[in-house]
Amino acid sequence: MNYPICILTLHHIHPFEDWLSVSPQLLGKALINIKQKGYNFISYAQFIEILQSKKNPLKKQVLLSIDDGYFDVYKYGFPVLKELKIPSVCFLITNTIVEKRQKEPVFKPHKTIDYTADIEYFLTAEEIFAMREWMAFDSHTASHYNCNTQDKETLEFELTTSKNKVAELFPQKDIFGFCYPRGKFNALSQETLRECGYSFAFSTIEGGACVESCDNFAIKRICISSASAKRGERDYLKRLNTKLFIYSTPILGSLKSKLKARKSRGSF
Ligand SMILES: [Zn+2]
Repeated sequence: MNYPICILTLHHIHPFEDWLSVSPQLLGKALINIKQKGYNFISYAQFIEILQSKKNPLKKQVLLSIDDGYFDVYKYGFPVLKELKIPSVCFLITNTIVEKRQKEPVFKPHKTIDYTADIEYFLTAEEIFAMREWMAFDSHTASHYNCNTQDKETLEFELTTSKNKVAELFPQKDIFGFCYPRGKFNALSQETLRECGYSFAFSTIEGGACVESCDNFAIKRICISSASAKRGERDYLKRLNTKLFIYSTPILGSLKSKLKARKSRGSF
């Protein structure tokens, strides 16, 4: 049976109530809950191996992905991930990466963070290296560039610059993956990714990743980035369990994904 892999997506992990954020406490509860339901977290390297071999993955496999590479992932998220021994992959906006942190940023709502001016809100090379035992890293463009474009020259520049930066940070790395900013892409960006030496790309199309049959340049994921304090923790965990159950089930998951795609377009 071709069991889909559920690739979960997070953005911010911090204790402040905001859009696209989950508190460290809730993250811990969610991860423990996922394990208790019998799902297994796989590493990015294991995911790549499964994807490239197109072998049928085992039932109930989960990959945790984190978009944009915010500073809070290191400060609040990593201690939880490390304690629970959860592997993950983080997609970096590579123009934001500086060597060392000068000072810790104060909280700023997600919607007000400027990807060019506010680089103190993003991970430094030092923080990236501190997490590498548990977290893999790949590209999310150089500047969070919208890949639904016909501007091939800028696309090439963005994809090459960010790939080179990831390669500079991890000289041993030989397979490069990509994540579309805000989930935006088209045939040109898919083609340019191939030409620039990327092997696969993640979208924000909701669904499980069926590695045997999926488009390697539009891999589906499941966003679990937003926990509303009003709706509460129980509601978040309930929604998470429902999504995992549906999208890890072969036929049901693919039907739900098609229905969902009709209703919404990717964001973030
Ligand atoms: Zn993003």
